[in-house]
Amino acid sequence: MTYDPNNVFARILRGEIPCKKVYEDEFVLAFHDINPLAPTHILVIPKGAYVSMNDFTAKASDAEIAALFRTVGRLAAEAGLAEDGWRMLANIGANGHQEVPHLHVHIFGGRKLGHMLP
Ligand code: IMP
Repeated sequence: MTYDPNNVFARILRGEIPCKKVYEDEFVLAFHDINPLAPTHILVIPKGAYVSMNDFTAKASDAEIAALFRTVGRLAAEAGLAEDGWRMLANIGANGHQEVPHLHVHIFGGRKLGHMLP
């Protein structure tokens, strides 16, 4: 799938749309989901133009991949989720019900989550 430079997260990265920023560095941006599904619902996105895990894992540098997953873990810990548990989720493509075509990892926590079902 070709990357759409006008998707909402690309526009957030360009500063065209505001977000409730949690963290930013050279590789990643993290912000609160606009429609939170749990008391903590943070999205972590790479700054590179990746549609999903498909092209990210194929094309991103080790530094970009490490930054994304270290940030997910660190932000969950900083949100106080580590002890009670939490969930990370990345929807991929049509079958995965991905709505925004820029890779994003959801962090859910702060309550007992529903059982994961396919
Ligand atoms: P997906 O189904 O994994 O693609 O989820 C997309 C997520 O992006 C949903 O949880 C939306 O609530 C969230 N979202 C869409 N637009 C915005 C925005 O402008 N700011 C923050 N979150 C957004």
